Amino acid sequence: MARERLYLFDTTLRDGAQTNGVDFTLHDKLVIAGMLDDLGIDYVEGGYPGANPTDTELFSTDRKLETTFTAFGMTRRPGRSASNDPGLAALLDAEADAICFVAKSWDYHVKVALETTDEENLASIRDSVRAAKAKGREVLLDCEHFFDGYKANPKYALACAKAAYDEGARWVVLCDTNGGALPHEVEKIVTEVCKVVPGDHVGIHAHNDTEQAVANSLAAVRAGARQIQGTLNGLGERCGNANLISIIPTLKLKSEFADKFEVGVSDDKLKSLVHVSHALDEMLNRAPNRHAPYVGASAFATKAGIHASAILKEPKTYEHVAPETIGNRRKVLVSEQAGKSNILAELERIGLKADKDDPRIARLLDEVKEREAIGYAYEAADASFELLARRVLGRVPDYFSVEQFDVNVEQRYNAVGQRVTVAMAVVKVKVAGETLISAAEGNGPVNALDVALRKDLGKYQKYIEGLKLTDYRVRILNAGTEAVTRVLIESEDEHGEHWSTVGVSPNIIDASFQALMDSIVYKLVKSGAPA
Ligand SMILES: [Zn+2]
Repeated sequence: MARERLYLFDTTLRDGAQTNGVDFTLHDKLVIAGMLDDLGIDYVEGGYPGANPTDTELFSTDRKLETTFTAFGMTRRPGRSASNDPGLAALLDAEADAICFVAKSWDYHVKVALETTDEENLASIRDSVRAAKAKGREVLLDCEHFFDGYKANPKYALACAKAAYDEGARWVVLCDTNGGALPHEVEKIVTEVCKVVPGDHVGIHAHNDTEQAVANSLAAVRAGARQIQGTLNGLGERCGNANLISIIPTLKLKSEFADKFEVGVSDDKLKSLVHVSHALDEMLNRAPNRHAPYVGASAFATKAGIHASAILKEPKTYEHVAPETIGNRRKVLVSEQAGKSNILAELERIGLKADKDDPRIARLLDEVKEREAIGYAYEAADASFELLARRVLGRVPDYFSVEQFDVNVEQRYNAVGQRVTVAMAVVKVKVAGETLISAAEGNGPVNALDVALRKDLGKYQKYIEGLKLTDYRVRILNAGTEAVTRVLIESEDEHGEHWSTVGVSPNIIDASFQALMDSIVYKLVKSGAPA
């Protein structure tokens, strides 16, 4: 049976940009739009041309995208004609493939916020849709507060939706603007809407205020809607919008949806989902949520001993989908409670052959337990675990040794009389019998040490050229009477591979140094650098 087409509409650049602390530059917007286009998203909403300079410029840039690039704005103002509304004119003039208008559909808002009549609001919807159609644009109408409006006055809410559809709008989008609707309500109301507007012209735009934006979107599809609006990583004001990163794999991997619907994201592109999700976080300069469904580092991580041995035998016993389908991977955690089976499972995953009766396995387990007792956290630092395992099993070359390092932090006046803090590090490294000395300045002592350490590693330099630190986290732990510092570092290489390392010490520089060293050595091991 032919599957029905379900359309995906991304509003990361418009609704997602409303998030506290998010401020996309023109470049950011173009990069994100390109990523969404590549993923196979049908519609990308770029922003409000005419309302702010970045968006106006975005819409006048040649974007070279296949997606339907959509401009967002208000319907004509009440009491004005469509031809005499500067806001509407800017929207109509924007180089967009489609225009998404937002309009009131709750009679209470029409009266209180718009201060106009129900009939004038309907006329404004009809006139705006007609004007955009006349400009050759595909038209969408976002019905603001649709679900609250429907509960208060179903006849009027439906009249707004129908006015847009009758005038030729391609999509009528039902918005749960304050995010308060529940899935069973959404399913019931969308069913009613689809009796008036055909479901293949109905969209859902859900906010996450009761943490059900994803569930509400799926409920709307069950009831007949054929467009889902959402954002990457659920970005959006307050609690966010419906998370496309969770919706896409659900549509593609769960048979209730996968058997019925086709989406623009191919199986192949689905494998880039983890990358897309992390790329957005990186742009926002925040650490990815380890517990994010499907894409989080912990989404396929197992800790308990019995589960680990079962997963090794047959992954399906504990996993609802295969991690590789979305570009994630299975992970068996080593931790304080770790048994031998976890260690063996993890060794197998990283490709280290070991016999289960090998006495070194018990030694490795003891070592992990001892180190975790003083603050190391191996389940958050896969690369440090791998190095530890390789060392116990005797397989890490001594690539180089750091003979000495020195870090200086100085606060002083600079040449123009400003008070500045400067950090400097000097590192003495021995590589292949040769002593190399590097010095570097940094915005802080750890940064200076990192830069100096990676400045010159002699014959190994070429292996670490593409290495960069993507996250640095510090935590003070209370172990016994003394506070110790745990540093977790996340690194990335030129192939987009990520790994985490850990260091623990009463001294933050020392803890950072351990984590940095592990990151570099791990990269050398992975690159197959000669000993
Ligand atoms: Zn919204």
